[in-house]
Amino acid sequence: MSKIFVVGGGAAGMLAAIAAARNGHKVILLEKNEKLGKKLFITGKGRCNLTNACDRDSFFEQVISNPKFLYRAFHTFSNYDTMNFFEQLGLVIKTERGNRVFPESDKSSDVIAVLKRELERQSVSVRYKCEVSGILTKDGSFYGLRLKDTPEELLGDAVILATGGLSYPLTGSTGDGFRFAKALGHTVTDLYPSLVPVHTKETFVKDLMGLSLKNIEIVISAGQKQIYRDFGELLFTHFGVSGPVILSASSYIIPYLKKQEPLLLSIDLKPALTSEQLDARILRDFEEFKNKQFKNSLDQLLPNKLIDVIIRLSLIDSEKKVNSITKEERLHLVDLLKHFTLQITHLSDYNQAVVTKGGINVKEVNPSTMESKLMSKVFFAGEVLDLDALTGGFNLQIAWSTAYLAGLSV
Ligand SMILES: Cc1cc2nc3c(=O)[nH]c(=O)nc-3n(C[C@H](O)[C@H](O)[C@H](O)COP(=O)(O)OP(=O)(O)OC[C@H]3O[C@@H](n4cnc5c(N)ncnc54)[C@H](O)[C@@H]3O)c2cc1C
Repeated sequence: MSKIFVVGGGAAGMLAAIAAARNGHKVILLEKNEKLGKKLFITGKGRCNLTNACDRDSFFEQVISNPKFLYRAFHTFSNYDTMNFFEQLGLVIKTERGNRVFPESDKSSDVIAVLKRELERQSVSVRYKCEVSGILTKDGSFYGLRLKDTPEELLGDAVILATGGLSYPLTGSTGDGFRFAKALGHTVTDLYPSLVPVHTKETFVKDLMGLSLKNIEIVISAGQKQIYRDFGELLFTHFGVSGPVILSASSYIIPYLKKQEPLLLSIDLKPALTSEQLDARILRDFEEFKNKQFKNSLDQLLPNKLIDVIIRLSLIDSEKKVNSITKEERLHLVDLLKHFTLQITHLSDYNQAVVTKGGINVKEVNPSTMESKLMSKVFFAGEVLDLDALTGGFNLQIAWSTAYLAGLSV
């Protein structure tokens, strides 16, 4: 029986430990926190969107970095295997809008509880408050681990590194795996916070803080180049914008942040209407409210919070009677509503990032086993690898797939 260490008790570490133990190994799971799955607990706003019940092609469309590297892992443990796995452990699951899969109870703690129960059932020994500080190797192969604050060295046959990335560092993901990998000779790509809110130059956004716009279209461009277009929900914050469409967009704008051209976010507040249709709609409203002041004429068209800002940007005198607004002023208002534009200055940091973009260079990892190509008996799983996807349960699926394959191959 081989002795296998798994470093990191997050999503990937727990699944890798279960897979390796089911495979007949003696498994020791080392977690630096006082409990397992601290990040898993906060996923999906505490509900844990554990995977996505889409088809294979749709899954890979959502994987942004290195989808091909994932083929084998996904084939070995797909999103449907994830659902079966959790159902077999007794977790009742449900599928919501956008094929997002959640526990029926809406509690991420239930996902952690079934994983913990299975770790116990498979006799995985879990060591809490146990921070690994170094990987010991000899002649190109793993032989042990060094722990922080103790001279104790743990000797074993193989290790699976599942230490996560850099996002939400308070959960324990502080990039240790990147340091270990570098010390083993691996390259780590540039790292960025991803799936994050964005900051804007316009400070009036703070007047809109808390306003959520459900059916809007966004276009992001760098100079003349359109780099992202999406439809969905956006949320204003005190420093800029967030919400599903913005988190996804953040992943695509990273490469443009250092360039000179201004990054513009154009929001179409009325995507269901063409400019002509919107103009006709506004004309109808203006007809109905013809004796009102402009500031009192937009209630049917816009959410309350937005009205003041739109009035300011429209440059139309707020006190002006609606029946004296000129055609030119009205067309400018239409244009403003179809192209409500903000300038993106930068992204939020790791404290607000759902994932880390970048990680251990996947060219140096065997996609069929997750083993390092540079150091034998060292395996990787989860966010520590240069893999990331959009929101919707895809990032956890990356963790489950790579972890299962690592646990199976170790
Ligand atoms: C707020 C938020 C919400 C999210 N919601 C979703 C969602 O609903 N669906 C989805 O698919 N994805 C979601 N994600 C992304 C998802 O949580 C991650 O992709 C996933 O947790 C990565 O799993 P992991 O096991 O690789 O890393 P982690 O979950 O980060 O686990 C790594 C573990 O390793 C431990 N560790 C680190 N270094 C050491 C060391 N030296 N010694 C011992 N232990 C160590 C850490 O303490 C940690 O417990 C969310 C992320 C965040 C931040």
